This record gives sequence, structure tokens and C-alpha cells, in this order.
Amino acid sequence: MVVGAGLAGLVAARELGAAGAEVIVVEAQDRVGGRTWTRRVGGVPVEMGGQWIGPAQPYVNALARELGVETFPTEVPGRTVFYEGGSRSEYEEDEAVPFREPDAASEVREAFEALDGLAKEVPAGAPWTAGRAAEWDGQTLETWKLRHARSRGARFYIDLAVQSLYACEPRDISLLGVLSDVAASGGSGGLFEIEASAEESRFVGGAQELSVRVAEGLEGRVVLSSPVRRISQEHDGVLVESDAVSIRAGAVVVAVPPVLRGRIEYEPALPAAQDGLSQRMPMGAVIKCHAVYDVPFWRGMGLSGRAEGDTGPCRVTCDNTTPGEDAGVLTGFILGADARLWGQESADEREAAVLECFARYFGEEALHPRGYAECDWGAEVHARGGYAGVPVPGFFLDHGFALQEPVGRVHWAGTETASEWNGYMEGAVGSGLRAAREVLSVLTGAGFGQGDLPGKVDRSRGRPRAGATGTGG
Ligand SMILES: Cc1cc2nc3c(=O)[nH]c(=O)nc-3n(C[C@H](O)[C@H](O)[C@H](O)COP(=O)(O)OP(=O)(O)OC[C@H]3O[C@@H](n4cnc5c(N)ncnc54)[C@H](O)[C@@H]3O)c2cc1C
Repeated sequence: MVVGAGLAGLVAARELGAAGAEVIVVEAQDRVGGRTWTRRVGGVPVEMGGQWIGPAQPYVNALARELGVETFPTEVPGRTVFYEGGSRSEYEEDEAVPFREPDAASEVREAFEALDGLAKEVPAGAPWTAGRAAEWDGQTLETWKLRHARSRGARFYIDLAVQSLYACEPRDISLLGVLSDVAASGGSGGLFEIEASAEESRFVGGAQELSVRVAEGLEGRVVLSSPVRRISQEHDGVLVESDAVSIRAGAVVVAVPPVLRGRIEYEPALPAAQDGLSQRMPMGAVIKCHAVYDVPFWRGMGLSGRAEGDTGPCRVTCDNTTPGEDAGVLTGFILGADARLWGQESADEREAAVLECFARYFGEEALHPRGYAECDWGAEVHARGGYAGVPVPGFFLDHGFALQEPVGRVHWAGTETASEWNGYMEGAVGSGLRAAREVLSVLTGAGFGQGDLPGKVDRSRGRPRAGATGTGG
């Protein structure tokens, strides 16, 4: 059975079902899709959670093709608005970012190149085995940034890259965690290019459509509105107890973020390394805000809808208009520390501040949308943040090896367990496939080789042992 009807859990269930296993999915919320959630606002569909995919993401692209969910390109031509130190400017895609300090642009470029260089030494999927893992997992990206970027502008722009990519601050994330993602994403180009390459397309009908269609294919085997509270391992199986149902099964795939894994009670209790893992991967913080207008008026001004700013609440915006819909949608992201602060304000105060922010970037017309909606993912009880879990310093060294490691009959899925594209929908799909095949190989003794498991990490590499010095590599 599977806990959690996000992409990871549903894909695991689909794979298990296709192999002939009897499978049931138990989901806490009254809907499927987890951190993908498509709502109608001002008469048009908007994405409250994950939405973009890129061409280098094979599993999610293949799933969409199999389910018949089409994609459309997201690029909007036009200038980007740049807002720094209270002054607003614009730049074309092929122009340098118009920082106020002359050295900032080259410092940013050199910093990203330096990160790319370090990432080449990090084995994708097993960053804790890198030769310098202890050094890099012993510091935050903030520590590294302060040494590699001197100007105010460069520091703000690196902050913005981290906030955009992880929904956290550079002080929240391990340098090794960032290097691991750069390595897993091909290691070239720097953070913004990685982000851009993962944002080429969106799904027609919304990203949640993937989960809706997989759930339909499971034909009544998804139990909604039933949080799983307890998992007991017995000599011949597991007993999974949720609010609505209690189910005995041969094995269970827990497909929830690590933080929420730790809020389920286990009998016997999880080993310390596994419980520690859920304590040391806090969720990022994001409030995603949409304003729906009659038309995408910024396009008429030659603007792409993208803004980058050093002042909140939304330091990043984009044009999220769906082609063919009778509306223009501006989306703003409140990220990291801003999200933690703004999450404490009332929804009305937040909306007013977001629209004022949009007006600073795109003019007074932005103050009058026909619809507005936001999702504070930190307030969502069954997510508790987003985009995903953030590896703090020491996480990979002490717990990386345990991310995918089953505990008896309890197996783990979810984007955070993915060796590649963790934090993304791609990682979620890959993790679901890996967990399903892992379970099948145990249940059937079919002898799937390790190489058959997508994203499977060779855990024998670099697993720290008491008394050993260093971290292998
Ligand atoms: C604002 C935002 C923007 C994002 N943008 C992008 C993007 O553009 N591109 C991209 O690729 N990714 C993006 N992501 C990340 C992406 O959405 C996630 O990586 C992916 O959806 C995670 O899927 P999952 O199945 O691993 O986890 P989830 O989607 O979190 O699924 C876990 C499920 O388990 C359920 N659950 C939790 N606890 C229990 C319990 N005790 N019992 C039963 N059920 C439980 C939850 O309700 C949920 O349905 C974004 C995320 C957010 C929040």
C-alpha cells in the first residue's frame, strides 16, 4: 500500500498495480496531487504549486505522454523589470543585468562559474561521497557567498537565485546540497540557467491533471481525507492505520515529505538515523500569489512579466497566462524569510502588499485584478512548506545514505528521496518508480538488479561508519 497521493505515491501505486500487485493509496487531503494543485481563479486555471517542467526531465515527460496530458511552452518575450535599492530599470534577455554597482554582474558570473567547478567533483545522487563533502556540508551557501561575492548587488542576486530555486535563504541550505543539485542537473550554466531549463513548459489543464489521471486509472483504490497516523510492522506484513481505514499489507511506500514522515508513529520506532533525517530536512517557505487581469497588459509595454527585486514581498514574478484563456495572469513568489514574515500577516494585508509590489514593477494597472488567489504552503497542514525539504549543513553527510533506505517493510518515496531533480515533479515521479520496483523486488523476489531501479543510489558507497575518518569518496 501507499501513503500519500502526490505524484510520487500515485506513480508508485500505478507501477505496482501494473506489475499485478494489489495496491491501495491512502491520502490525508480531500484531493490528489499534493504539492501540485490547480484552481480556477477569476475564471481561469492557476497553479498553486508545481507547474513547470523541462526537456531534461525524462520521467515526468514520459508520464505526461502516457497519460495524454499535453504541454505548452511558457516563454514570454519582453524585457525583465529589475528593482534594486528603490530604483526600477528594465533589461532585455541578451543584456547584462543593470546592477547599480559596476562589479556586481561579473562577480555573479564568477560565483556561478565557481559553483559549477565545485559541482564537477560531486557524484550526482551520492553527494556525501565527494572528496570534499565534509568541508562543503560543513557550511551554508551564505558562508560561501560572503567569501565569493563582495558587492551588495552580487549578494542580493545570489540570494535571489537561492530563494527562487529553493524557497529558502542561503543561510538555510548546505553548500553541498546546492552543489549536489548543480551536479545532478548537468553541472553547467549556473543556478538561473538550471532554473530556466526546468521551466520551459507547463501542462494543459494544470500539473495536478497528472495525478488526477493516475488516480482515475487506479479505479477507486485511492482513499481520500484519511491521514495515516500509525504504521506497525508485524512478522508477516505491516498494519497501516489512518483516520478512515486500517489496512494490512505486505509492504508500504511512504510518499510524503521527510518532515511529515516523522509525524507518523511507527511501531517499532524508526531507527535514530531515519528519524533524524526527518528532523534535519525542514521545508522551504513559499507563498505563491496570482493576480488575474482582463488582459496581460504588461506585454503591451514590451515586458515579459518577469521581475527581479531586492524588496518584498514578491522578489520574483512571472507571466503565468494560459494561452487561449481570456485573461492575463501575473504570479509572484513570496520566498524564504519573506514568506515566514508575510505568513503572519492577514490575507488582506498580504494581498494589498503583493499588488503594490506588482504596481512598482508593472504600473498602476496591476492594482486592479479581477481575481486574486494565493497559497501559503507553510500553512498547508499536509505539506508544511514548499517547494521541498531543504538539506541543512550536515544533512547529506549524516543522513544522505538513509534517504532511500527501507526500514523493514517500510519503503520511502517522494521528491526529496530522488537522486536527480529532487524537489521537482521529475524527482517525485522518479522516486515513485524506484520505490515501486524496490517493493516488487522484495515482495516477489523477482531479483530486479540495482541497475534496474531508476534513481537507485548505491548505498554501499560512502556510508559513514563509526570510527572511520573522513567520508569516503
Ligand atoms: C509553490 C510551489 C511551486 C513549485 N514549482 C515547481 C515547478 O515549477 N516545477 C517542479 O517540477 N516542481 C515544483 N514544485 C515542487 C513539486 O510540486 C513537488 O516536488 C512535487 O509535487 C512533490 O510530489 P511528492 O509526491 O513527492 O510530494 P507531495 O506532492 O507533497 O505528496 C505527498 C502527499 O502525501 C499526503 N500526506 C501527507 N501526510 C500524510 C499522511 N500522514 N497520510 C496520508 N497522506 C499524507 C499529502 O497530502 C500529499 O498529497 C513546486 C512546489 C511548490 C509548493
